[in-house]
Amino acid sequence: MKLKKSVKMILIIIVVIVGALVMYKYYKRNNNPNSVSQEKINETLKFVKDNNIYDEKYKEEYEKIEYQDDKDFKDILVTFLPKGYKGEEINYILKLSDTNINKLKDKDYVDISNYYNYKNFNVDNIDRYNKYHEEHNDYSYDKVITYVNIKLDLPVYTDPATVKDGNDLLVLVNKYNCLEKGYRPSDLDYASGIYGNVPMRKIAKEALTKLQEAVKKEIDIELLPTTAYRDYSFQSTLYNNYVKEDGVAAADTYSARPGCSEHQTGLAIDLKNPIRTDVRLNESDYAWLKENAYRFGFIIRFPGNKEFITGYQEENWHIRYVGMDTAKIIHDEDLTLEEYIDLYVNQY
Ligand SMILES: [Zn+2]
Repeated sequence: MKLKKSVKMILIIIVVIVGALVMYKYYKRNNNPNSVSQEKINETLKFVKDNNIYDEKYKEEYEKIEYQDDKDFKDILVTFLPKGYKGEEINYILKLSDTNINKLKDKDYVDISNYYNYKNFNVDNIDRYNKYHEEHNDYSYDKVITYVNIKLDLPVYTDPATVKDGNDLLVLVNKYNCLEKGYRPSDLDYASGIYGNVPMRKIAKEALTKLQEAVKKEIDIELLPTTAYRDYSFQSTLYNNYVKEDGVAAADTYSARPGCSEHQTGLAIDLKNPIRTDVRLNESDYAWLKENAYRFGFIIRFPGNKEFITGYQEENWHIRYVGMDTAKIIHDEDLTLEEYIDLYVNQY
């Protein structure tokens, strides 16, 4: 009986190992970008001959190119082979978006092999990716791409872009993206705060009310807004006072320049637990907020582990309304709004 049991066990183990090997091989075959089927290569050879673009000097390259009929295959071959791209690199190019392919057409040969596989790869930024990777070779390529796309390779406030649609719930306002001086949300509402009524966008107020009900019910505390919407001139006064006290460099780490404050969107809210005296939130208040804000469509906008991305010191009291779906992804994947927009919203 004992022997039978162990034989059974061995058989099960063998079946599991064989199964895993088969699955691994299958996975590798389907995910290895360099494995090209002979059938597709034959199609490529037939295609170049049929279209009278066969050139003897690219014979070896044709033999590595996987035929595709859903893109401008012919144009890609005649454009990129003469630029010096190898057969396998043509396969990489075929995976790019039309926008990236068009940008690449305007450039001399560049090595895209480290980047082509990432959906937020932007051909425009390739020189900056290479430079940034040289300076930070501990970062993986996906991080290099994202960080450069969100401009971490440039000094703060370098040529900030003007936000196109301040009313967009996913509006990104930071040290590289600023609102117009006159931007003011059209749907401001008022929530009662510690120091009086606090203006914020209607949708943020509704979500805040739900958050406040939940935190009361779940850990029996109050979280009240101190400020939310702040207009350009108010931010201007705040920032200039900080600069007078601490200088520009220090002020920039904790206060936004006018136009570049998320508070001007009406979607950012600073919270305080009214019973705390020395801090706005204590550790247990923040622990709840960090794990639950997303349920109401809010994110912690300036977490402690992301200062190098957000450009701000930790502010555990500053929440930002982004909507439930976005807030959940940002929470679950431990992202910042900057990373989320680059990975999930922007099209390259
Ligand atoms: Zn704030």
